[in-house]
Amino acid sequence: MAMVPRSASLLFLAAAACGGDKSAATADAGPKADDPSSRPPASENFTRDILSYGLDIDLANKQAVATITLAGDPDTGLSLEVGNLVIAGVHDDFGELQFIDLGSHMNIGVPAGGETRKLVIDYSFTSHQNFDGWLEDKEVSFMWPAFCGNLYPCISNPAEGATYEMTVTGAQGTAIFPESIPGDAPSYMPAIAVGNFTELALGSTSAGTELSVWHEPGQEISASAGTSNLLAVFEYFETTYGPYSFGSKVGTVSADWGGGDFGGMEHHPFWHVSSGSLDSEEVNAHEAAHGWYGDGVRIACWEDFVLSEGVVTYMAARALSEVGVDLWPDYDCELKAICNGAENTTALLDSCGEIDLINHDLWSNAPYQKGAQYFREVAGLLGEAELDAALSEFYQAHVGGSARMRELVELLKSKGQSQAIEELTVAWLETEACPASASSLCP
Ligand SMILES: [Zn+2]
Repeated sequence: MAMVPRSASLLFLAAAACGGDKSAATADAGPKADDPSSRPPASENFTRDILSYGLDIDLANKQAVATITLAGDPDTGLSLEVGNLVIAGVHDDFGELQFIDLGSHMNIGVPAGGETRKLVIDYSFTSHQNFDGWLEDKEVSFMWPAFCGNLYPCISNPAEGATYEMTVTGAQGTAIFPESIPGDAPSYMPAIAVGNFTELALGSTSAGTELSVWHEPGQEISASAGTSNLLAVFEYFETTYGPYSFGSKVGTVSADWGGGDFGGMEHHPFWHVSSGSLDSEEVNAHEAAHGWYGDGVRIACWEDFVLSEGVVTYMAARALSEVGVDLWPDYDCELKAICNGAENTTALLDSCGEIDLINHDLWSNAPYQKGAQYFREVAGLLGEAELDAALSEFYQAHVGGSARMRELVELLKSKGQSQAIEELTVAWLETEACPASASSLCP
C-alpha cells in the first residue's frame, strides 16, 4: 500500500538531512543499482510496500529485533516511523545498511531491485503511559491509531497492511500475542497482553476456528457472560461474510486499561476487551466483527472511519439478533445522545489522508451510531439478507486490502433503490444534523 507524507516539516527535515548523502552517492561510481550487496545512502521514501514483519520483543530488557520484508523497488529509500525508539543498527544478509534517525521517523538505504528485500533493525523501546505504545504498568500494548512507531519501526497509514510473526520473551506472567498473523493487517493490530490469565475454551466454528476467552482471576462470571454467544456470533460472521483471514485460533483477552467500561480494541486474532466491558456481549461481538471490517478490510484513510466502526456496530447487532439479543434499544439511546449533544459530527468526510483522527471531531461516537443506523435503514430498503450479501461481496473483494466507504455505498446502490440509498447516505453520513427519523428513537 502506498503512503503519503503526512507532515511538510518532516519532509523538510528529511530532505535537508539526506541531500549530502545523495550527492555522495552520485560521486561514487560503485556497484550496479540493483546489486543486493550495494550499500546505498539513507533516503526518504514513505511509499514503500512492507510485505511482512517479524517482531522479536524482549519485554524484560525492552529490546527488540524487527525483520522487515519489502516489495522490491527501483528506489533505494525507505522511511519508517520510529517514535522514541533507539535504533542500534540496520543490516541485511550482506552487512550493515546506512540509516539516519530523524526523531519521529528514520530513513534507510535499501539496495534497489529484486522481488523482495529483507532487512533487520535492532532497537530498544521505552515504557509509555498514555495508551501510545507498550504500557509497562498495565502490561498491555496499545498502538491505535498511529502509535506503532513507539513499539516497532512501522508505517501507521491505515491503508498499509502487512503480515506478522511475533515472539515475546521476558514477560512477568502469561503473554498473549499472535505468533503469526497470516493475513495483511493494519499497523495497530498486533498486540501483547501479559497477565495471570485463565483460558476458557468456547468451542470451534464449522470452519474449524477455535474460540477462547482469556480472563484474570475473579473475572470468570463477566468473561462467561460477555462471551456466552460469541461462538454463534463468530460462526455467523464466517458463514455470512466470508472466511476469517487472521488464523484458526481467536478470542477475547481481558485487558487492564484501568478497570472502567472502556470498550475494546480490534487486536486480531486475540482482541482486547477492557476488564470493565468484559461482560458486554456487544463489545465482544463488535471487536470480533473488526476481523472482517477495519482489520480484514482496512480503511483507506481515517476519513473512512465509518467503514470500520459503522459497519461493525451494525454487524454486532445483526449477528446477536440471530440469537435473540437486541442491541438496537441501546444503540437508539446512544444515537439520541449524539443528536441532542454538542459532539454531533458528520460521520463521513470527503478528503483522504488529511486528518489526524484523535485530534479531529470525527473521533467520536457519531461514526459508530450514525453508521449503524444507516445500515439498518439500508437493510429496511434492500432486506437484511441482501445487505448481508453485499457486505460479504465487498469483504471478499477487499480482504487483505484497503477501501473507501464510498466504494461500499456505490456497491449498495447497485443492488437497487439507488436514489433512496444515496439519500440515506447524505442524510446519515454526510450531514451533521441527524435525520428527522432519529427523533422518534429512544422514547
Ligand atoms: Zn470498533
